[in-house]
Amino acid sequence: MTTEVRPPTRVNDVKMIIGGEQVDAADGQTFEVVNPATGALIARAPLAGPADVDRAVRAARDAFDGPWSTWSASKRGRALAKYSALVKQHLEELAQLESANVGKPIVGARGEALAVSLVFEYYAGAANKLFGETIPVSRPGLDFTLREPVGVCGLIVPWNFPMNMASWKLAPALAAGNTTILKPASYTPLTAIRLGELAIEAGLPPGVVNVITGPGGTTGAALAGHAGVDKIAFTGETTTGQEILRLAAGNIKKVSLELGGKSPNIVFADADLERFAAESPYAVFDNAGQDCCARSRIFVEASVHDRVVELFTEATRRVVVGDPSDEKTEMGSLVSQRQRERVLDYIGIGRDEGAEVAYGGEIPTGDPYDAGAYLMPTIFDGCRADMRIVREEIFGPVVVIIPFGDEAEAVRLANDTPYGLSGSIWSRDIGRALRVAKGVRAGVLSINSNASVHTEAPFGGYKMSGIGRELGMHAMELYTEVKNVFVDLT
Ligand code: NAD
Repeated sequence: MTTEVRPPTRVNDVKMIIGGEQVDAADGQTFEVVNPATGALIARAPLAGPADVDRAVRAARDAFDGPWSTWSASKRGRALAKYSALVKQHLEELAQLESANVGKPIVGARGEALAVSLVFEYYAGAANKLFGETIPVSRPGLDFTLREPVGVCGLIVPWNFPMNMASWKLAPALAAGNTTILKPASYTPLTAIRLGELAIEAGLPPGVVNVITGPGGTTGAALAGHAGVDKIAFTGETTTGQEILRLAAGNIKKVSLELGGKSPNIVFADADLERFAAESPYAVFDNAGQDCCARSRIFVEASVHDRVVELFTEATRRVVVGDPSDEKTEMGSLVSQRQRERVLDYIGIGRDEGAEVAYGGEIPTGDPYDAGAYLMPTIFDGCRADMRIVREEIFGPVVVIIPFGDEAEAVRLANDTPYGLSGSIWSRDIGRALRVAKGVRAGVLSINSNASVHTEAPFGGYKMSGIGRELGMHAMELYTEVKNVFVDLT
């Protein structure tokens, strides 16, 4: 297994990982992988067809029934600790790959690679801390529960945080004793493949971590519908999540879903407005706004509306948009020209709806912008709750600002969405902040902060933002079945 740093500027023919081997697609088909910040071709990846999906499912099943089932929880934990160490050892390589493949700033990508390592570390410790219960039933005897792995898990992840989303699923699935088939988005397969290679280096038996690559509509759908798969863990768009549920119905797979969002950022007049304004551009423009937790709707108490728009716009002006490989860059390229078109369409819709562009809205020009899928951060003021730019997930660097009159209206506006993933509340009145936190129907909230993700704490959505909670010990529930055993002692 090769471990050298691969310059992502060179075209690599990458391979899938099935049954511990690096393989091409059975029919030899491939697809191209591009750096969206430069337009350069950086890799060709195998396009997995139904035969490849079958092969991966067989490999995962054989490993589940075979050697992996004999490993103690502690041994699984030690392998995950080694996996974590390997990720840390290859941090720079993973960060370079992710930055080049997604168009995201290298500094952020390094942080994301470190987070992957920490997720494996957390679940290394979790593996042997999954306990059952003893239950005082009415019959004379002993009743207890066992937590057992679900089986073969299909892990389908999106392109915005490819390696992080993979680690959120792989680590708890492996800690609980499952086997896995990871399918990255076709835009961004490179770090997933590398994680598959590192799994082998970490000593996980062949077939425990398989990685297949290809488009969602064919490769992903074949995995989600496969009768040999026991569970699908999915992160992506809400409409794709709906399709996954339909595909999973055939054999009643367990399904967990992390879907879209349109998260509120609620700022009251008594908040530290300077701090809100300094930190909040990053809460929506980080990763070029391609973040399910992006605080893309700002609700501001009417009495401080003008001041907040002024401070927020000033802070946004300072966000450095540029070449992702430059250490100073804070916002890179979008993931593709297609995604930029989609976001530009929304900016046009917002203008047509009568919203006013307070900042941005255009494509930057010159070097390095002309070669990639860049777009300026965009602030819409003068928005109404019924506008499409307020209601729909844009998944790009666009924020809408709406004033509110009082606490009740803030909660009503925040909840006026089919989504319920995350959100922030800014106020110096802790009683009010907690009342609002209780009122907002979302899975992940922060007060006087925009942080949503903590490795140790549950993450997931209400309403159409998903089913289940990833991260923390909650994630172990997604990857285990509960077995109840009664022993008659009469
Ligand atoms: P997407 O739904 O297009 O694709 C996600 C994954 O599903 C990819 O691997 C894709 O190939 C696959 N896929 C697509 N169609 C499929 C099908 N019919 N059957 C099986 N698999 C299929 O999403 P995306 O564009 O890659 O990612 C952006 C979306 O992800 C946004 O909506 C964002 O909010 C969401 N997201 C959510 C979270 C969260 O934790 N809630 C995190 C990150 C991203």
